[in-house]
Order: sequence, then structure tokens, then C-alpha cells
Amino acid sequence: MGQQFTSDNTAGMCPQALAAFVEANLTGHEDAYGEDTWTAKVCDRIRDVFECDAEVFFVFNGTAANSLILAAMCQSYHSVICHQMAHVDNDECGAPGFFSGGSTLLVSNDPLGKLTPKAIEDLVTQRHDIHYPKPKVISLTQATECGTVYSVNELQAIGKTARRLGLHVHMDGARFANAVVSLNATPADLTWRAGIDAMVFGGTKNGLPMGEAVVFFNKDLATDFAYRLKQAGQLASKMRFISAPWLGLLDNDVWLENARHANAMAKRLHVRVKDLKGVKVMFQPQANGVFLGLDHAVQDGLRARGWVFLVSERGCRFMCSWDVLEETVDKLCRDIEVLCA
Ligand SMILES: *Cc1c(COP(=O)(O)O)cnc(C)c1O
Repeated sequence: MGQQFTSDNTAGMCPQALAAFVEANLTGHEDAYGEDTWTAKVCDRIRDVFECDAEVFFVFNGTAANSLILAAMCQSYHSVICHQMAHVDNDECGAPGFFSGGSTLLVSNDPLGKLTPKAIEDLVTQRHDIHYPKPKVISLTQATECGTVYSVNELQAIGKTARRLGLHVHMDGARFANAVVSLNATPADLTWRAGIDAMVFGGTKNGLPMGEAVVFFNKDLATDFAYRLKQAGQLASKMRFISAPWLGLLDNDVWLENARHANAMAKRLHVRVKDLKGVKVMFQPQANGVFLGLDHAVQDGLRARGWVFLVSERGCRFMCSWDVLEETVDKLCRDIEVLCA
């Protein structure tokens, strides 16, 4: 199949990740279950990236990472505040509730896919009685599910609200790299310095074969997390093949380069089609996703020309991956131009 914009996980792994994967196979035997030298090295590198002494774990995918962090933050009678678009609500088959033994999600519908202090406060204070699941966690997605990003100020405001209301903060960073380069901010400023307790540091969409990092800045919350992972079937015995590819991303800031390219391709697409008659820009792209309102005839025309893309109330979604070529973007733009003419 040619390059597509269906998702940023249709792309393969980046050469640097593959090289690290191959290299991890050349050192011969290694200790299993994460006791290997590769995993130790990558955990240290991730602590360097975030400039803090965090607890780091690896899991197979984002659903496991999100839901197990939330389970570590919640009792069964707690609730998690998230946006209506959140992956934890829409795309995880109820895993957060399952792994926490019953916690529920409270959703807000603020603009731009972002939670605000006011929405959070409203959800927390609307009920105080014993019959309502007690709010315990704020879960936010950076970059968001509609291609926007939370600024450092917005994150700090949410962090402050969380502390005042006694809530933990979880960040779904499936596209954290795209937010880092978009905001030109440090990973530390975008996370623990703003009050994030734990995050999913996404690597898959950035060029890994698989394997997201779970990063606990608040180390108290990581107590017994290793047991939770094992019980959930998320402890890889040959862990080094999940961790080592991370070195390929982190060495020489390849992760930021990959994200910079993906974001630039989204911008290229946006700039070329934004003023066309028949194109409605649903969200100003700040990361690697472009969301366009397109007539059904245009959508059908694009499909007839071989393009695959998701459609929802957010519009038609075009995700740019780390390796999408300028030519591919230009070809899509030409097709949209022709169909809108
Ligand atoms: C892709 C994605 C994930 C990860 O999903 P998995 O399929 O479980 O790996 C998590 N959150 C967001 C916002 C995503 O886009």
C-alpha cells in the first residue's frame, strides 16, 4: 500500500530504531524481564530527557499504558476527568474501568479538544454526595485528539487546579513529541514542572515498531506498578527489544526530528488547502493532524482516488506520519484542489 494519512501508525519504524533493534540482538544473551543493560540505559536516557528522577516502565501499547496508569491512580469508586474526544474514553474498549476495577470517566466538551480549569472544577463540584463516583484524576492528551496542543501556561493552570482540588494528573502523550516541537518547550516544562504526575511517552507513532514508555514523575504512584504490569500481561520477557529501539529515537534527538517533519507536513497540507472553496478547516493544526470539513462528493472522490482517512464529527482526519513524503502531501493536495474546483 502506498503512503496514507489514515493514522500515524500506518508508517513503519524509522531506520534508527531498526538499527538499535538489530544491535540489541548482537550483544548475545541478556537478562530477561527488563533486567537487561539496554533497558537500564534507555530508562536513564528518558530521565535525562525529562531532567528528573522518574520511574520508567515499558508496555506494548498506548491502551495498556493509559489504563494501567489510571488504575494506579484510582480506586474502583473513583472517576477520571477527560475530554469527550479522549482516547481513554473512545478508543480503549473500557480498559481504564476494567483495570481499575470499576472507575468511570467524566467528560467535558470544551473547544479545541482541551480541558480547562473551569470545566474541571465544574465536573468536580457538580456533586459531592456518596452516590456519585469521586473525581480523582485529570487525564489530558498532548497533543490532543484534534491536532491542537496545550501551552505551558494552560498545563500549569490545570496543574494548579488539580492540586487545589486534590486530583492526580495523567497525560496521554501518544503524540508528545509533536507537542514538544510545536511548542518549542522542554519536556520537563510540559510535564512535571506543570504538575503532571505520570504520563505515557509515546514512541510508536514517532517511529518505533511498538512499545510506549510509562513515566511516573510522582514516584509514590509507581508503588507496585511492576506487579500491575505483569498481571496485565504487559511484562515483556525479552524487554530489550522493546526498550532498545528507543535509543534510536533518543540518540541525536531523532524523536524530535521525526516529529518536526510530521508537523511540517501537516502544515504543508493545511496551508495549501485551507482557502479552497469547499474546504472547512475544523481545527488550526498545531501538531501532525489536519482535520477538514469536506463535502461528501469530495470525500467520495478522494476515496475513488485511493485515499484512506477517518471521518468523524471532527471532520476528515489526515494524520501525517514521521516518514510521509512531500510528494505524498502534494498529491493529496492536488486531488483535493481538483475535487473542490
Ligand atoms: C494512538 C493513540 C494511543 C495509543 O493507542 P494503542 O492503539 O493502544 O497503542 C493513545 N492515545 C492517543 C491519543 C492515540 O492517538
